[in-house]
Amino acid sequence: MNSVLRFRTPEELRSYAEQVRCRGGKVGLVPTMGALHEGHLSLIRIAKALASDVIVTIFVNPTQFGPREDLAAYPRTLERDIALATEAGATAFFVPDVGAMYPGSDNVRVVVRGLTEGLCGASRPHHFEGVATIVTKIFAIVGPCVAVFGRKDYQQLQVVRALARELLLPVEIVGAPLIRDVDGLALSSRNAYLSQLERAKALAIPRALSNALRMFVAGERSVSVLDEVVRGGLERSLLAVDYVTFADPDTLAPCVAGKLGERALLAVAAFAGTTRLIDNVLLGEEGFFEVAPNSSSRAE
Ligand code: AMP
Repeated sequence: MNSVLRFRTPEELRSYAEQVRCRGGKVGLVPTMGALHEGHLSLIRIAKALASDVIVTIFVNPTQFGPREDLAAYPRTLERDIALATEAGATAFFVPDVGAMYPGSDNVRVVVRGLTEGLCGASRPHHFEGVATIVTKIFAIVGPCVAVFGRKDYQQLQVVRALARELLLPVEIVGAPLIRDVDGLALSSRNAYLSQLERAKALAIPRALSNALRMFVAGERSVSVLDEVVRGGLERSLLAVDYVTFADPDTLAPCVAGKLGERALLAVAAFAGTTRLIDNVLLGEEGFFEVAPNSSSRAE
C-alpha cells in the first residue's frame, strides 16, 4: 500500500498539485471539514473516476461558523478520516491549521451576492462569506483541477460554481448526488449530535420531502399546498422549522406563491433539539426516494 501524503502548508500542497500536472496527471479535489461519512466518500470516488490523483482537504473553517454555532464541538476524527478516504481513493490530504489558511490581518473575504441571501444565508448571515473565502483559498493553492461538491449542500454548490466562474478560476466544479442513510436521513457529520429520539424525529425531514416529491410527480404544482405538506410533516414531529423554501434551482430565487414550473428546488432546514439539519430535493429532476416509515436504523 502507498504511504499517505499529508500536507500542512499551502506551499507543500501547491507543489504536490504542480507535480501531478507536470507528469501529465489530473488533480481531483474534495474539500471537507472531516468527520467523514459515506456522503464524503462518494465524492472521493467520483473525483477518483475523473482524475489521476485526489486531494482531500480536512479543515474546520472557523469563518463559516456563527458566534453561537458548533465550531468547538464539531466532530474531529482525523486518523479515521484518513484511513476511510484513502480506502475510497484519496492520494493526498491537506490538513492545515487556522494560521496557515488565515495568515494575515483577517480582513479579506470573498462575497457572493444574490445566491447567498435566502435559504441558509438568511439565518446564517456570514456563513457563505466564510465558505466562499476558504474555497477560493483552496482553489488558489491547488490550481487547475476538478473539484467535487455534494448536492446535500445545494446552495453551497451554487455559490462555489458562481465564484469559480466569476473569479475565472481554472477549476471544473462537479455536483455529486446527495447520499442518504438507510432510513432516509441525509448523511451529515452533525447527525452524530442526535440522540436516538431526536434522530427518530429528524426522519420527518426526508419523509416530508419524499411526500412533496411524490405529489409533484403526480402533478401537484401549487406552492402553498406543497409547502403545507412539508411544514405540517416537520411540525407534527416537533421539529423547529428554520425554512421550507421552493426556489429556482439555478438562481435560487424563491417561488413564494402560485404554481411551480417543471423544475424546482425544495430545500429545508430544521432543528432536531439543538442540531440544525438541512436537506433538499430537486423536483422535476429526481425520481422517488423511498423512506422506511418508522425505521430507527442507524449506520455508524
Ligand atoms: P462538509 O464536511 O460537511 O463541509 O462537507 C464536505 C462536502 O461533502 C461538501 O461538498 C458536502 O456537500 C458533501 N456532503 C456532505 N454530506 C453529504 C451527503 N450526505 N451526500 C453528498 N455529499 C455530501
